[in-house]
Amino acid sequence: MAKRIRDFVVGGFLITVLMLGGCASEWDVSLEGPAGEEIRLSHGTWKAYADFAGERGFPLEKVLYGHGYQVIETLQITDRDGEELTYAWADTAGGTWLEEDGTLVVHDRVIHPRAIAVEQSPWVSRIEASITDIAPSAASALGIPAPEIAAGRSLTDQTAYQVLLLFLDGFGYLRYEEALEAGLIPELAQLDPPLVGVTTYPPITTVSTASLLTGAKPPVHGVDKRGIRKTDHETLLEVARQAGLRVSAVEGEALAFQLKGADFQLSGDRDGDGGTDDNVLAHALSVLERGMPDLFLVHFHGIDDLGHEVGPGAPLEGEKIREVDQAVGRILSMMPPDTLVVIFADHGMHRVEGQERSGNHGHLIERDMLIPIWITYLD
Ligand SMILES: [Zn+2]
Repeated sequence: MAKRIRDFVVGGFLITVLMLGGCASEWDVSLEGPAGEEIRLSHGTWKAYADFAGERGFPLEKVLYGHGYQVIETLQITDRDGEELTYAWADTAGGTWLEEDGTLVVHDRVIHPRAIAVEQSPWVSRIEASITDIAPSAASALGIPAPEIAAGRSLTDQTAYQVLLLFLDGFGYLRYEEALEAGLIPELAQLDPPLVGVTTYPPITTVSTASLLTGAKPPVHGVDKRGIRKTDHETLLEVARQAGLRVSAVEGEALAFQLKGADFQLSGDRDGDGGTDDNVLAHALSVLERGMPDLFLVHFHGIDDLGHEVGPGAPLEGEKIREVDQAVGRILSMMPPDTLVVIFADHGMHRVEGQERSGNHGHLIERDMLIPIWITYLD
């Protein structure tokens, strides 16, 4: 039965006509949960996520993440006629929308689902850490409380006099593995291998930064879609500041996310060479020459910028990875003893074909969700 609703205005009255019976509030789709449990999706589900709906409905991923899925490999849909449709999520995620009447639009094909089954990526069983663990780790090393909404766990028992957070924007775990293999990251390669980490959904800078700084997931910190650049919840930077610690941050051209609690500098592209990472490095080194802050956040944007522009794996993006690796080496060489260093990405990047930009991120797929997290104690 089609359940699409059409509205007609007749003689000044709005009359809602149900095509072929049924009603938008009645649909029911079965979803198999990550632990095999049965979840019923209904119009109530739609309403719970309605804030995220655009003209085309909202991404099905939003509901899948809400039910515990982290990295998806395939989606199998059984439609109401019993036909089974299987999609590789890496090809499908960006084009799958759940509409208010319970239909799924998959790359412009309208499907009336009866049941949805999800296969997660085999990587899920290898995940060792989350971006939400970074704030609790830094806090525990510094001997200060974790931010009040933090749900992550500390990844270290080590106490440290200072903590350095090196933020490598867009450098996902799979790209890290390729870069290691290609010999692009000799400095990072000297450290103990990173943990296989996972970021939060949607994997975009603002949302991930909120998860980084609060140690919480998006439904809790409230930064859960594009366009929100601050959280009202307490962050690691504020906790450290309140504890009387010296907190500094060095950013690129613009403040991607509010850094309340930190003294920060925007680096910009002062030399006009088209990139900000050289300026970020120069600023970071000048801060370090004056003395390592107790908590120091340095954000390199270039790998993300080039990834969007030329695509991950393109020669120019590889050169940028090499440049950022050298910058990491320069900064690490200036670290005083008794420093905990956490190096991480906020999300990864996947190639896109036939669009203006060659790379993007934002989906529950391996390339976007998996991130490397290095934890190193320098004594
Ligand atoms: Zn980012």
